[in-house]
Order: sequence, then structure tokens, then C-alpha cells
Amino acid sequence: MDRSTRLPVAFIGHGSPQNALGGNRFTDAWRDFGARVRPRAVLMISAHWYTSGTRVTASARPRTNHDFVSFKGAVSSFEYPAPGDPALARRVRDLLAPLPVALDDHWGYDHGAWNVLANAYPKADVPVVELSLDRTQPPAFHYALAGRLAPLRDEGVLILGSGNVIHNQEIGRNAWPAEPDGWEQRFSDDLLRRLTAGDHAALVAYEKLGPDAQLAIPTPDHYLPFLSVLGLQRSDEQPAILVGGEGSGINGLGMLSIALG
Ligand code: ZN
Repeated sequence: MDRSTRLPVAFIGHGSPQNALGGNRFTDAWRDFGARVRPRAVLMISAHWYTSGTRVTASARPRTNHDFVSFKGAVSSFEYPAPGDPALARRVRDLLAPLPVALDDHWGYDHGAWNVLANAYPKADVPVVELSLDRTQPPAFHYALAGRLAPLRDEGVLILGSGNVIHNQEIGRNAWPAEPDGWEQRFSDDLLRRLTAGDHAALVAYEKLGPDAQLAIPTPDHYLPFLSVLGLQRSDEQPAILVGGEGSGINGLGMLSIALG
């Protein structure tokens, strides 16, 4: 299949569930991306489905999962009624074989999925399947696993990673004891430099990138979807920034979103 029919792959920095309601420059960028890219289905890899083992949503009518406690108001009853795609779930399982992949009828869409999709596909008319992140596996596993999903890009499936490359909630709550000045900017610059250079090895081995990376990525969950997207980058593709990460208004939260292809 030629490049004209191959879908891009994107990583979205999702931030707060409130982003489902739109109205900022990040959500505007997600909306613009969705308006440009019309897949037959989305395969979503969200930071918020962090499981033991690999799971994929297989329900025809996934529920909207309000998997947070600290947000009230409209988002606490938000519904994203996009259909599931059980056939795509089985296709994902088959592509990843012999890795055991559980077909899951219970999880539905978590807020890392629906706050992005409510902007990118506001009519909820694109079927969605979610793939979990196996919390027992190292970063290189996630990078390699995503690469095995590459054929989906030629089958009308948009693969999205949803997380945040800088995600330190302790700093966001001002509960982190001390941090060096300028660390977010330094980490951001370093990450973009390595991304542009295609230095995936260093980005996968982020635990060796020093103290700024340790502040940016205190736990792997929000960073791993970024590695999943890098694992799908082809040699003829350059990253494009959909929206820069600065300006979230929250310390320790970077909102960078990128597309490849
Ligand atoms: Zn999140």
C-alpha cells in the first residue's frame, strides 16, 4: 500500500479530564488533527489503562469510564458514545500473538481516551478500541510491541498514544520538596532534540537520561504511550509537532502532542 493511504500515528498530551470540554489551544490542535485525519477506527493506547498483562477492549458498546476522583461538574458525567470494534480487537490480538492478549468487555473508555477523542472526533462516529499498557513490562517492551501493530496503519486504523511526556503530580501539587530551576524546559528541549534526531534508543532508556528526566517521568504510565508511538515511526517519517508542551498552567505537566507520517 502506498503512503497516500497510510494513516499517521500520533501522541497526544492529554492533561486534565476538563479538556474534554475543549476551549484551549491544546484541544484546538487535537480538533484540527481529527478534522484532517478520518480513520475507519481508532486504536487508543492510554496512560490510564495500566494493567497486569496486555488487554484490549472488545465490547461493541464500550462504557465511558470516569476513572478519576478530583474533578466534578460536567466531566464527571461526560459520555463518549463511540462504538467499539470487536473485529479490530481480535485483529490486534492476532497481530500480537503469541503474546497473550485478553479481550476485555468491562473497561470501556478512560478519560485519557475520551478527553482527546471528544475533541478529535466530537460526533463519536469513529469506532474505538483501547489497548492497555502492561505495568509489569519494561519500556522497551512497549516500544517493540507497538511496532507489531504497524500493519494497522494501512488498514484505515489510526493509532493514538495518550499520555504526557512530563507528568509529575507531586510538583503540580507543590508537594515535591525541591527541584532545580529550568528543569522542565531543559527536559523538553532534550526530548525534542532526541525526537528530531530519531534517537529512540535514548528515549526508550529514559531512566538513564538524568535528574530532569526523573522529575518529568517519576512513573512510567504517562510516558509509555509516547514510546508506543515512536515504535511505529517508519524510517521515511519525520515528527511534526501538533502543539508544543508549554503553557499548561500546571507545574510538572507537559502537553506536547506530535504526529508521525
Ligand atoms: Zn492522565
